[in-house]
Amino acid sequence: MDRRHFLELGVVGALGLGLGGVGGLGGCSRGGRRPDIYLIVVDSLRADRLGCYGHEQAQTPALDALALDSLLFRRCLSAAPWTSASVAAMLTGQFPSTLGIRDRPVRFDPGYPTLPGTLHEHGYRTSGIVSVDMLSKELGFAAGFDSYDDANYTGREGLTAARVMGKAKRLVAAADDTPTFALLHVFDPHYNYIHHEGWAAGSDYRGPVRSNHEIVELWGMLDRLDDADRNFLSACYDSEVAYTDRHIGAFLDELHAAGRYDDALIIVTGDHGEEFFERGWLGHSISVHREQIHVPLLVKMPGNRHADIATAVSLLDIFPSLLQATGIEPPAGLEGSAHDWSSKDGVLKRPVFSETFHAQQHRPGGMQPIALAAVEFGGFKMIRDGQAGHTVVYDLAADPDERQPRRVGNVDADQTLQRLLSDWWDHVDEKRRGARTRDATQLLDTDQLERLRTLGYI
Ligand SMILES: [Zn+2]
Repeated sequence: MDRRHFLELGVVGALGLGLGGVGGLGGCSRGGRRPDIYLIVVDSLRADRLGCYGHEQAQTPALDALALDSLLFRRCLSAAPWTSASVAAMLTGQFPSTLGIRDRPVRFDPGYPTLPGTLHEHGYRTSGIVSVDMLSKELGFAAGFDSYDDANYTGREGLTAARVMGKAKRLVAAADDTPTFALLHVFDPHYNYIHHEGWAAGSDYRGPVRSNHEIVELWGMLDRLDDADRNFLSACYDSEVAYTDRHIGAFLDELHAAGRYDDALIIVTGDHGEEFFERGWLGHSISVHREQIHVPLLVKMPGNRHADIATAVSLLDIFPSLLQATGIEPPAGLEGSAHDWSSKDGVLKRPVFSETFHAQQHRPGGMQPIALAAVEFGGFKMIRDGQAGHTVVYDLAADPDERQPRRVGNVDADQTLQRLLSDWWDHVDEKRRGARTRDATQLLDTDQLERLRTLGYI
């Protein structure tokens, strides 16, 4: 196997590369104390639906204000367009396939160091507060957390932001000299989409789609929906994002009031995006196009430095970059890249990979296996469809919405992407064969499984 090009670009830290810039670990702790870290993950949050990313209909004042104190990454991509795969990749710095997460929810390979586990070893008190069964203890997500609260999902009509952020506020109130790491995951923008009270857009809509409409039923109606129906769904999503923003804002207010905001390291991101009919689908998990994988990434460093960063980065990069920012040596073998968040030029230009093998049984034609992988590098994006056996390229400067695929040409940029993608594919294929996983259906209880069924995941 020729991994030369894959490695030249520093992708596989496991083999001793990819962690450029780790030297000189001084950390950014003030007065010897490491910063409190809050990693806020909003489920199914597209970057382009926040005000700070240019969405005019957005009502996201809290995140827009946070963005002014943060590194704002214009182009952050999730490793996969579905929750378990993406969050596991974020918490381990490994590709989903490496962890053995492919076409269904599983308990992922427990043999990899985790971000919370590493922080715990360096004196952090680690808490996870999450709100969907895809992130259950049973699937391995509690590894490295001192406490893990995965009981915040109150049903698909339930709202999670008030509950999760309410608990997060109590963490702040109880904080002492021990540094905190908290993973805070809220679910609200994920379907079902709710039209929240007081949200103007869509309030005069009188069509067949309801607020909180069952997603499986909506999928059965997709070919009958007109523009008004689609606009209503989109308005519901915006209203869920606004609702989430309000509760994140209340949490940030609590940090300010406690005098703990300026010194904290706060990250806000999404686990994946959400398609609103760009390619005929509603939801996520089945494509590696922009709408399903382009997520916001705000990194508020201690001291509140703003910068606008266009370089493409991956959610896998959070683990090594966060450790670098706190002066902790990352464990060997991370597949993400360590960026220096404290320096103007600290964000490295690296290929960014995304993947999905998670088919959708509710698509027309039923369950058809999918095998999609993408690499983005140097302003181009290549997508390989392993089922159809073809590969296409998009020029992102001319075609940011990825509408005009072209065949792989005999030009340097295409050849580089093709080698990167082939080497990556071989690499994860080898890794996943050795991964120790267990099927979720053997691990979750009947209530958990029923909730995943109503979301169309199993
Ligand atoms: Zn998700």
